[in-house]
Parts: sequence; structure tokens; C-alpha cells
Amino acid sequence: MNADQTKNLVDETWSSSIVPALEQYIRIPNQSPLFDPDWRRNGHMHQAVALARAWVESQEIRGLKLEIHELDGRTPVIFMEIDGDASSTVLMYGHLDKQPAMVGWEEGLGPWTPVLRGEKLYGRGGADDGYAIFATIAAIRTIQQQGVPHSRIVVLVECCEESGSVDLPAYIELLADRIGTPRLVICLDSGCGNYEQLWMTTSLRGSIVGNLTVEVLTEGVHSGDASGIVPSSFRIIRAILDRLEDAQTGRIIPEWLHVAIPEKRLEEAKATARVLGNETWSKFPYIEGMQPVTKDPLEALLNRTWRPMLAYIGQAGLPDLLQGGNVLRPKTAIKLSLRIPPSLDATNLEKNLKGLLESNPPYGARVTFEAEKGGAGWVAPEIAPWLAESVERASQAYFGKEAMTFGEGGSIPFMGMLGARYPEAQFLVTGVLGPQSNAHGPNEFLHVGYAKKLTACVAQVLSDEATSR
Ligand SMILES: [Zn+2]
Repeated sequence: MNADQTKNLVDETWSSSIVPALEQYIRIPNQSPLFDPDWRRNGHMHQAVALARAWVESQEIRGLKLEIHELDGRTPVIFMEIDGDASSTVLMYGHLDKQPAMVGWEEGLGPWTPVLRGEKLYGRGGADDGYAIFATIAAIRTIQQQGVPHSRIVVLVECCEESGSVDLPAYIELLADRIGTPRLVICLDSGCGNYEQLWMTTSLRGSIVGNLTVEVLTEGVHSGDASGIVPSSFRIIRAILDRLEDAQTGRIIPEWLHVAIPEKRLEEAKATARVLGNETWSKFPYIEGMQPVTKDPLEALLNRTWRPMLAYIGQAGLPDLLQGGNVLRPKTAIKLSLRIPPSLDATNLEKNLKGLLESNPPYGARVTFEAEKGGAGWVAPEIAPWLAESVERASQAYFGKEAMTFGEGGSIPFMGMLGARYPEAQFLVTGVLGPQSNAHGPNEFLHVGYAKKLTACVAQVLSDEATSR
């Protein structure tokens, strides 16, 4: 493969075709079903699928078969097969569903308003993970245009990732024979430590999201009348949360939620800490005077990749500040997002958390924990020499810098499922979620310059995969 030619082809496809398509995609509020239970009637999901399909079909990929599957009651998937050397299969993955809008977008920006500023394309879902199907097809097109051989490729694009990929196992079953046994899995839904080199993810945390509810009364009452007699549901929830998280340090208390960090991953985190330094913690938009949990880059990396951590992501039972009257409220509910270590067995997680949070309720309050979504994390298998060489070659060719491997703090449920199903497969898990890109938050952007280079790197790896056997 000719690096200059690859670069030119990829740049041209991105500038003339992918960016305009992503601008259309950003305008579609196709939130994941968990955030838009009425998604089918609202029609945004089908609109996003139709947009991606039309774009793919305009790319004149040789040997492409594209199908939309939609099992009863489930979100659709786009499934593609691209003819190639059938003695090997590469499985490529992405998703089209999005996180909700979230507040706090800067003046002039918004979740459903694409804005291109320099290299950055702002808007919800461009980087997480709308760009993936476009980058995937652009990479395949580039190698086909150069007459470079590739293996048989299957592409699976789902619409349920941000809801825990609950619909995906049914499609894996449905399409198992068509998928075959992948030798390489390429996932473009992960992150990068900076925008200067290729980053390969070696672990993802698992997660569980669920609602913790404490109920004390059948209706709210005057707080001057009841406080001191009726226990506050908020105080009870604080006491219960103290079983899970040390409020002073943020450390997760139950030992069964921790794992011993493998020596190899510790060494890797040290190498990442040397490259990223203070950027590990300084990249976040702190307010004036705010301090991070730690300023030690290694500790920061281990906290975000190998240790369990809790975030409070929603609530019910509390009026907003304007409407908050002097009332002792009947209930408080908090939506918890617990990230768990990559190698932690998540089999009984929900049951164990229920036990921890619901047992011995203070004052006999009604305490419930209901999980909404969740799944185990993922740890990369030992990287095969051909893939390590290929990734390094790609990073040198398109970034002029060495490739890095690192652990990621986020979760991609499908990787855990695939790792268990195809233990022999190699994984290139990578992505564009770098500093400030802010997937899930306000001001999400796709770094177009980085995405172009990443696309070229994917083309390189596809080509190397076919010649490495
Ligand atoms: Zn994603």
C-alpha cells in the first residue's frame, strides 16, 4: 500500500463526503432506546440507519452486500459482508445510537447542530460513534482503489450500544454463520490519549447503571412539622451510599469490586503516564480553584482504567431549585453509574449490589436498587506480533510517531461479548475520543484531522492482516 496515495484518498473522502454526511447525522436526535423509549415512533433511529445505508451504497465498494436486520421488538442493525480472501475474516464494529443531549453546550453549539470549527466537528454522536461506519467503509474503499488485497470483511453496526447493547446478542446468534470466526476485530468506538499518534486500547472497564430509591412517606409533608421525627430519605440514601463509596476519597469500599492490577498493565500505565504526564488530569474543564482526586499521572490512569469508581448521573424525587418548597419529601432516587475493573467477573454483580444496598434499611425505609444496564469489561488478548508490527507501521506512516497501547476507562459491552465468544481473535480497539472530545457531555466534537489519520491506519492494518498469513 502506498502511504501517500492512501493519505490523499482518505483525506479526499473525508473532506468531500464524510464530513457533509456526518453533519446530516448530527442533526438526527437518534438517542439510544434507554433515553428515547418511543424511538420507533419518533423515527430518528431509522432515519440515521437510512442515511448511513445510502452513503455506504454510494461508495461503490466491490463485493459489498448490505442488509438491515430488525428483529421483533429490537433496534435495527446494519450488517455488511464484503468479499475478500475467504480464508480469513475481519469483523468491524460501530454504533449509530447516541447519548442524550445533556446541558451545558457553549453558545453557538448544540447537540443536534453540526458546527465545524477548524479541525473539530461539534455535535452529539459524531465522535461516539457515528463516524465509525464512514471511516470503516472509507478504509476499505481506499485499499480497493489501490488494488491491495484484503480478507473477507463483515461489518456490524448496532443501534443499542448506549443502552448496554442489550439487543446485540440476538443478532450475533442470528448472524453467527454469516459472521464466521473472525481473526481480527476492529472497533472504532474507543479513545486516544492524544491526537498525535495511534492509540490501541488494551482494556475497557465494565459498568453497571441502576437506580437506588429510598421511600419513607406516602406523600410529602411540612418539613417544619416532620423533620426530626420522619427520617429524611436523602439522609438515608447518604448512609446507604457509604456502604459502597468512601465519601472522603471516592474509593469503592467492597473488596469484591476490586481486582489485582496485572503487572503487564501496570507497566503499560507507567509508559502511558510518561507520554501523557499531567494531561491525564489537567484535560478536564475544572472551575477555578478545583483540584483533581490525584495529580500523580500513574494513579490517575489506574483510577480511570483499573479501579471501580462511582458517578451519580440522575435523580428523581427532588424538585428543581425554583420549585423546592419546605417539604420533607416522600422519596429520593439516584441513578448510579458504577465502573468496574476490566477483568472483574460481573456475573452476580446486580445481585451483590442489591444485597449491599437493600439489606438492613435504616428505620425500615423501602430501599430498592434496580439495574438498568451493565456488563463485564474487556481485556485484550496477548497482541500477535503481526498486529503489533502493523499498528506501529501505521502510526509511523500516518502520524510520524510511535503507536501506544493503553487502558480505557469507558465501556463497550460488545467487546466483552466478543472476547468470550472468539478467544482466538485479535482486537484493534481504537477511536477518536481524545482530550476535550467530551463524548456523552456537552460540546462533544470529532477531531476530523485525527479521524482521517486513523482511517488511513485502519486501511494499513486491513492490508497487513491479509498479507500476514
Ligand atoms: Zn460509543
